[in-house]
Order: sequence, then structure tokens, then C-alpha cells
Amino acid sequence: MLIRRRRFNLCVCLACLFPGEVVPADADEIASEPQPRWWKGNLHTHSLWSDGNDFPEMIAEWYRKHDYHFLAISDHNVLSEGSRWMKLETLTQRAGTQALEKYLARFGADWVERRGGTDGAAEEIRLKPISEYRALVEERGAFLIVPSEEISDQAEHVPVHLNATNIETVIQPLGGTTVREAIANNVRAVEEQARRSGREIIVHLNHPNFGFAITAEDLAAVVSERFFEVYNGHPGVNQLGDASHVNVERLWDVANTIRVGQLGAAPLYGIATDDSHDYHQHPKSARPGRGWTMVRATHLTPESLVRALRRGDMYASSGVYLDDVRYDAERGYLELDIRPDENATYTTQFLGTTDDYDAARRRQTTRAKPCEPRGATRPTLVACSAKSKGCIPRIN
Ligand SMILES: [Zn+2]
Ligand SMILES: [Zn+2]
Repeated sequence: MLIRRRRFNLCVCLACLFPGEVVPADADEIASEPQPRWWKGNLHTHSLWSDGNDFPEMIAEWYRKHDYHFLAISDHNVLSEGSRWMKLETLTQRAGTQALEKYLARFGADWVERRGGTDGAAEEIRLKPISEYRALVEERGAFLIVPSEEISDQAEHVPVHLNATNIETVIQPLGGTTVREAIANNVRAVEEQARRSGREIIVHLNHPNFGFAITAEDLAAVVSERFFEVYNGHPGVNQLGDASHVNVERLWDVANTIRVGQLGAAPLYGIATDDSHDYHQHPKSARPGRGWTMVRATHLTPESLVRALRRGDMYASSGVYLDDVRYDAERGYLELDIRPDENATYTTQFLGTTDDYDAARRRQTTRAKPCEPRGATRPTLVACSAKSKGCIPRIN
């Protein structure tokens, strides 16, 4: 029998977590020595620049108003730059009439650029480039747009998509004769741009179960890839697997066990994203606000965020918040302070594939000793609505 229930997952990276008080930023002053704090962001979003159905400014507004601090609008094989006009007819086919109506109502006729519509010329709306719209929607210490792209490639007849965050210029997909080669080629292209430009750029592999394209062995094999989407909010990406494919969390566990246990390589870190496309339509479509990544950094700048991600001072969530994460390296203890929610109870499980680890706690602050690094382990939080009849067991 099916029980109606909600499930929220949170995955924490077990690397280089260090103490840091959450100190609210002062909106009026640039602090000379700001303390690390948590910033909430989404690193995977689509707009009208590719196959999303809203204007970038409108999407940015949605995230800003929903307590996000950073947003990467990552359209397919394009960085929103230069001049781009979209036919009104195309816009209406994709988003109905409401996209333009809402855009005009929110930002006004002076901001919205239109042309044509007379003498037989098709009416067109201009899609603003990031260099123009970011000044409208950003706010120092409160909301940041990070230039990004979804490198949308394929190999062996399956999709291979990677997000490049904080890029300078667009990166065209490089392909490969195998899935692993395509991943490695595109990761290398991102790294080359980072070196050439001197920018902090981060690449992560997207939705491995989309088209059941990428196996745990593929994920493990390309060790230059350090981040992947352990959660993607798009309903079409087979997040939970199916009768013959494992779910994405299980892919992560297997991949990290191979990396740490067999290859002697660093583990993959998990990121949660929305992969949002649909800002008007059905509640079950690719809507915003489903999965996010919390990053602990001193500054709300792309460089500070990317460096924090690299050192693993982050966690991925589809519903749970942590007030703090502390790792005592000397004693080997990890402590999580889970933000209380009166409508939810929490179960914290430490999951992995090593032989000698087994711990579960049902408290709001959990302390447990992670295993020795022969394999890989990670805490997962499962929060269930108080009305549900029990927490959902993880599928392993
Ligand atoms: Zn994709
Ligand atoms: Zn996408």
C-alpha cells in the first residue's frame, strides 16, 4: 500500500568541514573580516536562452524572493551574452501569453525591449544578456548571479551533460567515443578555461540517471570530475531509478567506494539542483525550489563560493537545513546541528559501503564516528512529515 508522504534528503560532504559561526551579513557595510556563513544557491537553471520558459530576470527574482543567495542560470550550450531576439510567436508557443504579461508587469515597458509587429514584421522580444540583467537583480551580500552553462553533450547514444559554473566564455561540447571520454574531455575544457582566464570555475556532472546514461563505474572512473548531482529536481531524470536501475544515491555510494577503496582517489561530492525549466505551468513539471546547495563561505562572490565547494564546505539538500556542521578531525567525530521543523521528525543515517560501519540516531544533534577511509561514507538525513506513518527506508 502506498502511503502519501514527503521525503527530504540531505547529503553532507565529509571533507574539510571546519567550525564557523553563522553571522548575518551587514547589508550596509563590507566587513573587513567576515565570518564564514551559509549561502543557499541553485547551480542548474534554464531560461528562454535555451529551453526554459521565462526571462532570466524573472527567474532571478523568483530565487531572490525565495531566500536564495546565488543562482547559476545554465542554459544548454550557450552563455547569455550578445544580442538575442525571440519571436513573440515562439515565446507564446513555449510559455503562453503569461510570460510576457508577467515580465511587463514586473519590470515595466521601459525595461522590456520589443520590436517589429508592424508592416508585416514579426514582433520580437529581446532576451537580455547577463551583463545587462545582473545589475538589475543582484544585491551585494544578498543575491548573486553566476555566469554558467550546461555543456550538453552525448556519447554512445546517451546524454552527457555537465554544468560549468563561473565561466568566462561558452564551452562547446567536445564529445568522445565513450561516455567516460566525453566526461573527461569536457572537464578538461573547463579546466583549461579556468587556467587561461585565471577564474575560479567549477564543473559538475549532471543527472547521471537521465536516460540511464551514466553508471557508477563511469562516475568513479573519471577522477578529474569531483562533483555531480546527487539530486536533480527535474521530474524526467530518473532520480529514484527503476526496476532495473539503482537510484542516484546508490550510484554515489558505489562510485565513491570504487574511488576511495580501489582507485585511491578523492571522493565525488554531491550537489543538489533544480534543473528548473518551467515557471508557469504544472506543479509537477520542472519547477524551481526543489533542490539546492548550501555553501559555507566568507563572501558571496563566485570565487569564494567555488573555493568553498572545492574544499567540501557544503551540503546538498532537498528540504533539510543544517545550522552547523562540525568535524573534529582529532577524534574523528562529525556533528550535525539540524534546524528544527515542528512539522517534521528527522532520522540521520550514516550510509556507505564499508564493512564495519553502522550508526543511526534519532536526535536533532547527531554525533557519530565515521568509518576509516577504506571506503566512503556520508550522512543522509531523511525528514518526514509528522502526518506520515514513518520514515521511508533508504533504498540501497
Ligand atoms: Zn541536462
Ligand atoms: Zn538542465
